[in-house]
Amino acid sequence: MSEAPLSEIFKRLIATTGPISLMHFMGESNARYYSHRDALGAEGDFITAPEISQMFGELVGLWLADLWIRADRPDQVHYVELGPGRGYLARDAQRVMKLHGLEPRMHLVEGSTRLRDMQLAQVPGATFHHDLSSIPTDGPLLVAANEFLDALPVRQLVKTDEGWREIMVDVADDGFAFVAGRQPMDSAIPEARREAEPGTVIETCPGAAAQMFEVAGRLANQGGAALFIDYGHVQPRFGSTLQAVRAHQKLDPLAAPGEADLTAHVDFHQMKQIALSRGVEWMGTVTQGAWLTALGINQRAEALVKSSPHQRDVVMSARDRLIAPEQMGNLFKVMGLAAQGWPMGAGFALED
Ligand code: SAH
Repeated sequence: MSEAPLSEIFKRLIATTGPISLMHFMGESNARYYSHRDALGAEGDFITAPEISQMFGELVGLWLADLWIRADRPDQVHYVELGPGRGYLARDAQRVMKLHGLEPRMHLVEGSTRLRDMQLAQVPGATFHHDLSSIPTDGPLLVAANEFLDALPVRQLVKTDEGWREIMVDVADDGFAFVAGRQPMDSAIPEARREAEPGTVIETCPGAAAQMFEVAGRLANQGGAALFIDYGHVQPRFGSTLQAVRAHQKLDPLAAPGEADLTAHVDFHQMKQIALSRGVEWMGTVTQGAWLTALGINQRAEALVKSSPHQRDVVMSARDRLIAPEQMGNLFKVMGLAAQGWPMGAGFALED
């Protein structure tokens, strides 16, 4: 069965109903994108930390096992991963958790059936979920999410001469263009941010806020901890961070709906505020480079090289890619959360 290109569907929709919100455009584009394309890996459009090296998932597994041991090894724990991609993080984390006596039930929250098949091959016996609502409530959760929040659709508001408006997508020539919506949106902007130069953009991600609200609420009710790893900023800021990537190249976000990965930076400041409002402990938000180094990525790399000396260059360049400040080391952040009464996680003591 062949489906109409998403660009044709959007054009018809806009012709009948007028411009659609950027949030609608991004949400539909990514739903189509993740269910149809081989997005991940060297052959795909972009490469993520668990795809770069097994060390990433192993250190996440080690972090979770360490915390679980210091929490006195509760039974009936559930590993929950949001947006597991091809399943490498879950696979590598599971292997290391098992070495330390931790064998949680594996729950994968994934919207794409195609990716679910790939994840099941890496984590046989995993249970799949469309969202958090069906995750069991009978034990603590160990939650991991890497490059998940950045894929959720953002809403953008722009200051015009007439006041704040939502950024919409309209048809233009052969493609699409951003336009300001007609409806006044001033009341959606917090008063402290309302005064701004024309052209100022504020970006928010209601989907990420909702996910954080839900995860933190679950931790508060049933115990456990969570790690959110993504690219983003720790201070509130103005401006659009929307970007599109296809075949490892950036392109115009409106150029190829459904055929490129659309992402935006995660607002870790807001994520923290939401988590705190639910009564969970915030361990800190640190750079990926600092966190992986504290967890022992250098020692793990040396151990891998020792067992396979011919792989030295591959292992060391993967390590550099994950932690070097000019590569993923600084741009990517790791935020740790824990239920009250749970111990602090490793790697968060030195920064905040
Ligand atoms: N964590 C993986 C993949 C990141 S890509 C890695 O690091 O390699 C983003 C992932 O989030 C994909 O698995 C995608 O299908 C999933 N995803 C995106 N939007 C989603 C949504 N609304 N609900 C559930 N999963 C979603």
